Amino acid sequence: MSGQKGLGVVLKSPREIELMRAAGGLVFRILTKMEELVIPGVTTAELNAVAEELIEKAGAIALFKGVTNPQARTPFPAALCTSVNEEVVHGVPSDRVLMDGDIVSIDCGVRLDGYCGDSARTYAVGQVTDEAQRLIDATRDALSLAIAQIQPDRMWSEVAAKIQKLVEDRGLSVVREFVGHGLGQEMHEEPKVPNYADRKSRKNDFRLVEGMTLAIEPMVNLGKPEVIYAGNDRWAVSTKDGEYAAHFEHDVAVTAGGADVLSDGRQPSK
Ligand code: MG
Ligand code: MG
Repeated sequence: MSGQKGLGVVLKSPREIELMRAAGGLVFRILTKMEELVIPGVTTAELNAVAEELIEKAGAIALFKGVTNPQARTPFPAALCTSVNEEVVHGVPSDRVLMDGDIVSIDCGVRLDGYCGDSARTYAVGQVTDEAQRLIDATRDALSLAIAQIQPDRMWSEVAAKIQKLVEDRGLSVVREFVGHGLGQEMHEEPKVPNYADRKSRKNDFRLVEGMTLAIEPMVNLGKPEVIYAGNDRWAVSTKDGEYAAHFEHDVAVTAGGADVLSDGRQPSK
């Protein structure tokens, strides 16, 4: 398939979409395994070790490992990003012990048979406050709403505006500095997929077309939208005001009938 003119977007064939579904399925299994493992007392390094084992057993490659970032001092050292409480994304697994009342966003990316899967969920550790649960629910709902809005010919900004409205109507805020992305043989392909719509983002707007594969990933803050690079390694991105953040991500293919979710655990068709 050729790229979409002018944008550098790589459209995918039905066969490629099934390969992406297989990669997305592996990520789904890992994130589902985390549902049982995320309990008070576990460390984020222990969660990462389980993910690394599952990725290796599947014959896949951990996408995040070795990634470099101009902000960070070292290449990313793990298969998972584990972002706790006020950390939005890119938290590095460590000996940090998860405590009752924490929330943790786990992001996992793999390459399997040449194609990528990339998905994230935020988990409640034990019993969390109503406010934290409200944040998690809103972020998950924002992703579901976006998926339901996808259809060929629609401009992405229409979908993004709906994500932003849902989040802001619930008194929460959308992170601007990090956005979703095209996904395929590479983890980050064109286009950029923001979770908000303003004059600037509309300049880079794009039309949804069949065969486009996107990682959609709203990042939502309980307080203000601003983020900072925190932590010794300068990988973790945290809310500037220290309030909790949540992150959900799914991979989708745009089809004539709407979004086909590739990271929800359904089996590839042969
Ligand atoms: Mg991700
Ligand atoms: Mg992503």
